[in-house]
Amino acid sequence: MISISELTPTRLRHLCTQADTKAIHAERLNAWIFRQGNLNPASLPELPVALCELLDREVDNALPALIDQRCAADGTQKYLLQLHDGEQVETVMIPIAGRLTQCISTQAGCALGCTFCLTATGGLRRNLSRGDMVAQVMLGWQQFGQRARNLVLMGMGEPMHNFDAVADFVRFVTDPAGMAYSPRRVTLSTVGVVPGIERLIAEQLPCSLAISLNATTDAVRDQLMPVNRKYPIARLLEAMHGFAHAFPRRRMLVAYVLLAGVNDSLADAERLVGLLKGMACTVSLLPFNPWPDAPWQRPDDAVVGRFRAQLSQAGLVAVVRESRGKEIAAACGQLLHRQPANVSIPI
Ligand code: SF4
Repeated sequence: MISISELTPTRLRHLCTQADTKAIHAERLNAWIFRQGNLNPASLPELPVALCELLDREVDNALPALIDQRCAADGTQKYLLQLHDGEQVETVMIPIAGRLTQCISTQAGCALGCTFCLTATGGLRRNLSRGDMVAQVMLGWQQFGQRARNLVLMGMGEPMHNFDAVADFVRFVTDPAGMAYSPRRVTLSTVGVVPGIERLIAEQLPCSLAISLNATTDAVRDQLMPVNRKYPIARLLEAMHGFAHAFPRRRMLVAYVLLAGVNDSLADAERLVGLLKGMACTVSLLPFNPWPDAPWQRPDDAVVGRFRAQLSQAGLVAVVRESRGKEIAAACGQLLHRQPANVSIPI
């Protein structure tokens, strides 16, 4: 049997051939499931009986089990899913000004060890498949009662460390014959795994790019994000310029988590302006969301305001993004389904 979230236009066409029915039914089925959100393929009206019977036999309509669901006062909802092998991951639905964004996990856990990220404390357990990611979209849609308008691959994991499955997912959700998302509405986020950015460019992956930068010197970035020791800032900037050059019409977002006394000085703001000079991007400033025993603190609002003003005065587009769903631990860097003994997530 195949899981409903593993279906593709090709697989549906294959099922039509097997049932000796016209290929047009594959297109109808794809729209019924992935663009209209129906989780019982055989319920599509006017399907040939042989195809209905085959779908009942061959397709498992169940999505991953919903283990936990938490809702925040700002409307953010976080879902904990149990995948077919018992592994658990989280996805978050974030409504902002009537626009729904879904944060998708690409790995169960993460191996990269960024020191401001709670997910890092649990280590990496496994990569997610394309179907595991599609299942998150379908389950979020089903639970929230609305399909997300934007998909951001910013949940648990580093997408570039699971490139093949992530690329399959991005191609499927942006395929007009698949989920038909605009590439502008799908954002792949990386902490700066340069070969992944280069591959994304070479393979012309249809998505926007977000870079989690978080520091303006290698000394500080080495301390915050071990990945920087392998791909330092200069190398990362080269790859970012490569993306901007290859896709001048695509969005690039630079995320910068502000940590009190670490990377939030006016000198940092000035260096950031210098680093991003000539690059078309939006800087998203994220005041740190502390968790118990976290090694960093959140800066004062006045410090955040001054930092943003410095960037704006220099002509950068900079916005302060207050993380959503903080009280349900759904904010940036707070996703962690399996709590280590010494970490308790604030709820
Ligand atoms: S910030 Fe992203 S890449 Fe870094 S540890 Fe957390 S999940 Fe992994």
